[in-house]
Amino acid sequence: MTTKNVKYWDYLCDYAARKDDYLCAVDEVFSSGQLILGAQVALFEERFAEFCGVAFGVGVNSGTDALFLALKGLGVGAGDEVITVANTAVPTVAAIRATGATPVFADVEEGTSLLDVNLLPAILTERTRCIVPVHLFGQMVDMEPLLEFARAKSLLVVEDCAQACGATYKGRRAGSFGNIGAFSFYPTKILGAFGDGGMMITASEDLMVKLRRLRNYGMEAEYCSDMEGYNSRLDEIQAALLNRRLPRVDAAAEKRREIAKIYADGLKDIGDISLPVVRKECCHQYNLYTIRTAFRDRLMIYLREQGVETKINYPTPIHLMRGYDFLGYRAGDLAVTESLCKRVLSLPIYPELEETDLLSVINSVKKFFSLSGSI
Ligand SMILES: *Cc1c(COP(=O)(O)O)cnc(C)c1O
Repeated sequence: MTTKNVKYWDYLCDYAARKDDYLCAVDEVFSSGQLILGAQVALFEERFAEFCGVAFGVGVNSGTDALFLALKGLGVGAGDEVITVANTAVPTVAAIRATGATPVFADVEEGTSLLDVNLLPAILTERTRCIVPVHLFGQMVDMEPLLEFARAKSLLVVEDCAQACGATYKGRRAGSFGNIGAFSFYPTKILGAFGDGGMMITASEDLMVKLRRLRNYGMEAEYCSDMEGYNSRLDEIQAALLNRRLPRVDAAAEKRREIAKIYADGLKDIGDISLPVVRKECCHQYNLYTIRTAFRDRLMIYLREQGVETKINYPTPIHLMRGYDFLGYRAGDLAVTESLCKRVLSLPIYPELEETDLLSVINSVKKFFSLSGSI
């Protein structure tokens, strides 16, 4: 029997351990005399871009806006088609729609849950303008063939790196492959803020200048817009907090990989479970640890009874959501995506997860399968 509840995610241990440091960062901003687009945002943009191995960073107020403004900055809009996947977080698609463009869904690979690059030629049309590969759960899409296809067909690429901060493909970090990489600092992400935040990174100086204007009413100088823009600035307080956390990202991701290893060792050879597949050219950040089983719903209820919190990422594929009816998809259109949505279950994973809790999650999963006789 589990005696203690295991939370799916918890930031309070980290806060308790580093409270003074975080409060000091907040005080620094309050005392600085510069509350909007100050020194902390500038410093974080520079450091984060460097961390990703890209020249420029532009901080914005969310991952959704990072995707939206990236597409805007590249000129994507009404009449254009943007290829992405349907097993992602809704914001990927909301951002595409906000530009007026039409999302077109590619099915995914069974093993990794990631965009199946082999399917791109079949869904290409003369209106296809851009691909938004989603580096889901913390692992990168197979970027080499994707970029080759994009180059051959003159398509733009905006990487959705919201779940993959720091992940690598053949040694290069997520966000450094496409025209723009879009990141989220939503609290549950690999690098989380204490609220909302996002970032676009790019190697192009011209694009960087345009993106800076887009997030600030289209302005370079005060009170005069050079272009139509928006208000989507990374908050100075969040930037100060992110500056404190950035140096620890790699160590935190390493901790996540250690936890994933313990899950993999503990859950192997259990009847109907498949574990996350990691491609050899990838370094997985494990923002989520997502297993698959045909007994998903019953396992989730059993774990809840045992005090273990889990989540489903994601229960409904976007092409079958009521809000996206108008796109005209039907059940059966994306067979692998739809099948995965019925089987995936995300187990607790975060750097502060204690080993005893981790082992009790593993034991509860094992117990479920031995009770149901399928071990
Ligand atoms: C979190 C997330 C986003 C959006 O980020 P917000 O900061 O919440 O707007 C976009 N795409 C994916 C895959 C995400 O997980």
